[in-house]
Amino acid sequence: MTPNIPEPILNLLQEIGEVGGEGTYLVGGFVRDLLLKRPSLDIDIVVEEDAIRVAEAMGNRWNGTVHVHPQFGTATVTPANPNLPKIDFVTARRETYESSAALPTVAYGTITDDLCRRDFSINALAMQLDTNAFGTIVDKTGGLEDLEKRTIRVLHKRSYVDDPTRIFRACRYAGRYGFRIADSDTVLIRKALPILAKLSGERIRNEIDRILLEENAPRIVGQLAEFGAYDSIFTGWQISPSFASDFQAAQHAIVWASEHLTDEEFQPELVRWMSLFSTRTAIYQIEALSFRLVLTHQLRRLVSRTQASQHSVSLEKVTHAVFEKLGLPLSQNASIEYHNGKWCIVDADTPASEGTTYVCGEGNLYRIETPLTAYRQLSLALAALQETVKPSEIYRLLKPYPIEALVLASGSKSIATWKREKIRDYLLVLRKVQPFITGEDLIQLGKKPSRTFETQLWELFAAQLDGKISKKEEAYSRLRTLV
Ligand code: ATP
Repeated sequence: MTPNIPEPILNLLQEIGEVGGEGTYLVGGFVRDLLLKRPSLDIDIVVEEDAIRVAEAMGNRWNGTVHVHPQFGTATVTPANPNLPKIDFVTARRETYESSAALPTVAYGTITDDLCRRDFSINALAMQLDTNAFGTIVDKTGGLEDLEKRTIRVLHKRSYVDDPTRIFRACRYAGRYGFRIADSDTVLIRKALPILAKLSGERIRNEIDRILLEENAPRIVGQLAEFGAYDSIFTGWQISPSFASDFQAAQHAIVWASEHLTDEEFQPELVRWMSLFSTRTAIYQIEALSFRLVLTHQLRRLVSRTQASQHSVSLEKVTHAVFEKLGLPLSQNASIEYHNGKWCIVDADTPASEGTTYVCGEGNLYRIETPLTAYRQLSLALAALQETVKPSEIYRLLKPYPIEALVLASGSKSIATWKREKIRDYLLVLRKVQPFITGEDLIQLGKKPSRTFETQLWELFAAQLDGKISKKEEAYSRLRTLV
């Protein structure tokens, strides 16, 4: 097997084996991918007894930096040579789950314990690194046979119940390698599905983030839908039936953005997330889901009535600040109430009958604007667009939307080509136009900021965008007529 390892990595592994001696192993994804003859960069080393000692010795040897986490018995070494990958060292451990969907209790153990705490047999393979047995595969759970049979299989019956994130992981590996999930696992997954609801939003979001990075994301997303996973997480959550083609379009749009919008802060993962929701998903459902996946956990942790009163600030103020910090500002008129032990965030602007006050998870009422909904809102706004629209109107229409929603719309096949061209023109040109006259200029002319002042500035800028004025002097003479 060692001939498949690129030489610089092979040298690193041999050096680790020399220093660590017996009880030093390469584990996890690297071994699996090596046996599948696929490249892998994640090097995880397990050392029985003391991984930190070995990591520090390797750090010295490679003039690298070592980050140690003594409380977890782990360390990461980054060699000084930038062409070499960072390497994680972990002391062999045993894990026990006291309740399902919670994090496990960890204790030090042997390599067998360490392999048996893992998710699937294909991930529970290790390769000995000590000089006497370098390259020997340790297989305690039938991983080699499952690799041969191209099968995903957990190590024990309670595995999915202990940690339901493994449901996502099983589908992710099956989709990535074209493997099948063992029949026995399919039965176990179906039994464990209701426990998905217990997972924190953060853990679910991380798993979906990782799925959306896979080339075969549509297949993985589809398999999870067949299991009914989304509905178990959030009642009524349905993935867009056109996700496969929407995802392709999103990927192309992301490539386009990476080539054309190079100096922007741009989050490609947000574009992929937006492509999960079809035009049939109501905006309130997307908001509700955002709340479940992003906020419930933080809100509970960050905002408590007692804490707020201890610091003599109102709960409203704290909650508004928290949402702001999360990049999801609440509207001015949102009030935060607490009824019968439940959080209620209610927007007074919109009547409940329009479906804008929602019940989520444990019965929380809320109304929030989340970036995830921006694409759907943009699609609705674009529907009314006429081909004769002026550049200034396009500017005004598109300006409030996050760049990720615009990028996705610019690549979406469900939006007319001419509209997509206008969006790209806005992204590349219109949005970067600098006004001839700014607020500063008006203040220097002795004007006080006011509504009229803002309207005049906008009229001048609109005339500039529409090509009615092309010089600063023209803008000034037009200003005089406006005044
Ligand atoms: P990828 O190629 O997707 O990075 P990986 O196998 O390296 O895959 P990681 O999520 O980085 O996956 O995890 C490293 C190893 O840790 C896995 O190979 C697996 O053995 C173990 N592991 C990760 N998550 C879990 C889990 N939820 N339950 C049990 N073992 C896990």
